[in-house]
Amino acid sequence: MTTEVLQINCNSLQKAKEIILNGGAVAFPTETVYGLGANAFDDDAVENIFRIKGRPNDNPLIVHVHKDYDISTLVDEVPDYAKLLQKAFLPGPLTMVYNSKNRVSSAVSCGLDTLAVRIPSHEGAQEFLKYLNLPVAAPSANISKHVSPTSAEHVYADLNGKLQLILDGGQSQGGIESTVLDCTGKVPVVLRAGLITREMIAQVVGECGEYVYKDGMRALSPGMKYKHYSPNCSTMLFKYEELDEAVKIYNNTTDEGKKVFLLCDNQTAQIAGVKNVLNLGNDENEIASNLYSKLREGEEVAELIIAVAPEKQDGVMVGVMNRLEKACR
Ligand code: AMP
Ligand code: MG
Repeated sequence: MTTEVLQINCNSLQKAKEIILNGGAVAFPTETVYGLGANAFDDDAVENIFRIKGRPNDNPLIVHVHKDYDISTLVDEVPDYAKLLQKAFLPGPLTMVYNSKNRVSSAVSCGLDTLAVRIPSHEGAQEFLKYLNLPVAAPSANISKHVSPTSAEHVYADLNGKLQLILDGGQSQGGIESTVLDCTGKVPVVLRAGLITREMIAQVVGECGEYVYKDGMRALSPGMKYKHYSPNCSTMLFKYEELDEAVKIYNNTTDEGKKVFLLCDNQTAQIAGVKNVLNLGNDENEIASNLYSKLREGEEVAELIIAVAPEKQDGVMVGVMNRLEKACR
């Protein structure tokens, strides 16, 4: 299969619509990462998404809709706090999990009685979803377990030949996947940390829980139990306080003739003073935005990436650390 990469315009949107209505998959940009989309009403199309990615079939997908889509056709019992959060953060990088009306394919939620819904703010994503006027089931558009894609080039590198069309909407600015928020209980609970932080949610509705997955537990959000986001080279992860040790290993391994790169923020890079750096930038949003592109850049040049966590650990860094820990597992 030939994979076309097209800018978003009337012609490419029409092509995308034909592919989706025929049960195919189209990759599209969002403000977090690129998605691999299929018609959420079509069982075969949704199952095909799992096949293309090699995704475990117990890791449910998020349904994406445009901002004027009536989600009450898909889910029921939207609690009052969820309505406040919709108003505060949507469209945007927040996925909300509701009780499902089971109108979409059961393959979307892998048999769970809930449905994760997202309204992306990216202009190209909105155009694509509006043009289709369908709920689009979409995981990140990468091979399962590999680093998530933040550009059309990343999608092409992973999935060339496995889908017909990639809609190119430039670089995804957010950089890490959406916050996943359970909205089926009395208070919202963060299932996956992201750019909309627990603090931001609590500010709007007063309270917000956090679900911490531990190995062996029944996963509330099954995606959390898998190795994820990993570059195709060796990796190590150190705490900010362990920078000295990280630099020692960098130097020793470099002396052995290995290509080693330090992945860290700008502040840490200045202190470390080593030659090969994958610099994530300065503030938390910059770090999130650069994380996946630096991991992908790193796997091209390095045999070993030594990641050092930033000093700041709250806010958006909770989501960044979650990805870093899984990438370097
Ligand atoms: P990805 O598509 O790779 O960004 O992953 C989607 C994330 O959303 C995974 O962590 C899933 O476990 C989570 N998710 C999707 N649907 C549900 C759901 N119905 N309930 C809980 N988590 C979900
Ligand atoms: Mg993913």
